[in-house]
Amino acid sequence: MKRELSRSVAPARAGCAFVAAVLWLVAGPSGAEEHAHWTYEGEHGPAHWGEEKGFETCKLGQRQTPIDIIAARKAQLAPIAFAYKPSPATVVDNGHTIQVKLPPGNHITVGDKVFELVQFHFHRPSEEKVKGKAFAMDAHLVHQAADGKLAVVGVLLQPGAASTLVGEVWKTIPRGHGESLPGAITVDPSKLLPTDRAYYTFTGSLTTPPCSEGVTWFVLKTPVEVSKKQVATFAKRYPHNARPVQPLGDRGISESE
Ligand SMILES: [Zn+2]
Repeated sequence: MKRELSRSVAPARAGCAFVAAVLWLVAGPSGAEEHAHWTYEGEHGPAHWGEEKGFETCKLGQRQTPIDIIAARKAQLAPIAFAYKPSPATVVDNGHTIQVKLPPGNHITVGDKVFELVQFHFHRPSEEKVKGKAFAMDAHLVHQAADGKLAVVGVLLQPGAASTLVGEVWKTIPRGHGESLPGAITVDPSKLLPTDRAYYTFTGSLTTPPCSEGVTWFVLKTPVEVSKKQVATFAKRYPHNARPVQPLGDRGISESE
């Protein structure tokens, strides 16, 4: 029963820092042999994720994320059409990041494929690098299509003016690990986006265990500003929650013009 529940919950809410947390919470310690505890440092850190049963892809995968975006090929790519709107959201501290869960109603369309926004969350420093450079933070907007395929939009965050959206989310962070009241705030995810939506794209994975592959990544080229104080507020909870960059392998990176 517990396992069935795990399976039914995971796909609907799949996302970088969420699947393992859900499985852990649902399965509890009895499911630990399949879904082990993981961290960003020490004996359960990224170098060891792949040693745990169920997390083998973290070690064996050939198309892992994050990556350092060094050489991208310019191409005529379909624009990402964002259809985001103010939505009642739930703010979660899941022990790995601060995540904002959204009800259905926000989506992106790329070409003829529609992906529903499920949640977004943050990393410090940015997991993606561009030509060797990490940014102060990033936001990952995790989407899922009707066929189960995942697409993540990465937004690079750099110090500057405060972000209204980030400020509202930070105010709603639960005191400990856990969730705010459902719909505790109304957020418009479009406020997290730069005006220019040109992007890099490549195939990759979840950046957290179980590191599942087949994820389409869209990293927006233009960073968005957050204040130093907002970065510091996040850092009090999560000073470092970024997986190191992974080998590019035989993948290409495309860049919209
Ligand atoms: Zn992420």
